[in-house]
Amino acid sequence: VSSFEALPLAPKDPLFGLIAAYKADTDPRKVDLGVGAYRDDNAKPWILPVVRKAEERVNTDPALNHEYLPIAGLGTFTSASAKLMFGAENPAIRENRVTSVQTISGTGAVHLGGLFLAKFFPRPENQKLYFSNPTWANHGQIFGNVGLPTGTYPYWDPSTKGLNFTGLIEALETAPEGSIILLHACAHNPTGVDPTREQWMKIAETVAQKKHFPFFDCAYQGFASGDLENDAWAVRYFAEAGFEMCVAQSYAKNLGLYGQRAGCFHFVTHTEETKGRILSQLEILQRSEISNPPAYGAKVASTVLNDKALFREWEDNLRTMSGRIIEMRQRLYNKLVELGTPGGWTHITKQIGMFSFTGLTEAQVRRLKEEFHIYLTNNGRISMAGLNTRNVDYFAEAVDKVVR
Ligand code: PLP
Repeated sequence: VSSFEALPLAPKDPLFGLIAAYKADTDPRKVDLGVGAYRDDNAKPWILPVVRKAEERVNTDPALNHEYLPIAGLGTFTSASAKLMFGAENPAIRENRVTSVQTISGTGAVHLGGLFLAKFFPRPENQKLYFSNPTWANHGQIFGNVGLPTGTYPYWDPSTKGLNFTGLIEALETAPEGSIILLHACAHNPTGVDPTREQWMKIAETVAQKKHFPFFDCAYQGFASGDLENDAWAVRYFAEAGFEMCVAQSYAKNLGLYGQRAGCFHFVTHTEETKGRILSQLEILQRSEISNPPAYGAKVASTVLNDKALFREWEDNLRTMSGRIIEMRQRLYNKLVELGTPGGWTHITKQIGMFSFTGLTEAQVRRLKEEFHIYLTNNGRISMAGLNTRNVDYFAEAVDKVVR
């Protein structure tokens, strides 16, 4: 007998289950709108041309070896990442108040931040970390695993298929003073709905009034609008406003380095002295969790970030990806309007980034899968990157049929 006979069988990760179901489907019309990964117009993964060039440089570097990186990661990568995130002129960077640690992509950065805060963030009244309802499915379990109690703030307004801004602000106002507030820097997952700049300013004001602690999750810088600065605006605004705060940064989507797990965790402090204390503790946590981060993706990313010509080429590649997605939003919208599909569809073009929250119900999602071989998550979220010039009309026609 096993000591684990009473172990409950955990449910499979719904997203990875969806990917498996799509792979097993033999219908030639099948469409994958589940996975949050960029696809080109042929529905194929895309290695960014700039990444191919950077890989060539990394692989032919006579000094290349496969030694361990330092605990905090590759210095050229983390310092360039901080400048990319906050902007070289941000007071937090100029005053040397950002500490940066390389992590296992964005997930690892969220986790390291969660672990640190669970251990060291002062929560005299058992304050919680609040994330948006809905949010990226992994947030709940990451913070749960490190023992940080969580709550939610309203975000999605089903009636407008946009932001429930009043609900969000009210929740920030009623949360106990000194709570941790998790914010998506841009291209909110799963809704595709971001606050406007004016709304961000109000959010910052409320967070400051309540002495909350902001924690940004930034998984789509440059991927959302095609402009790295624009997509980092909220993070930079908060850092300039003088908050102590955390940022989780991922290069999965914007460099297409998904499986290489290149990411960074940044901690902005008020003083350089506190920064040293924080880094010392982060290094202990990192050592016990992963010892040191993976080298290859960081070397590739660092090559792009630290070379002017490659950086410009990356910006061009970002415009290709975000531009194709924005074009698909427009084509989907146009087709639904052309078909006279019941309901308003302007949210499709207003939303931004990898995902769109369509407003389709669970029953409609089931019909899309069973009758049309179209795969999306039960909450009606579609990955825009799964649409292309050949399947966008098919998808619109299927939506038209299931909503009537
Ligand atoms: N945070 C959000 C909101 C995301 O959407 C994702 C990826 O889907 C991540 C973090 C982390 O992704 P990764 O660990 O691949 O960088």
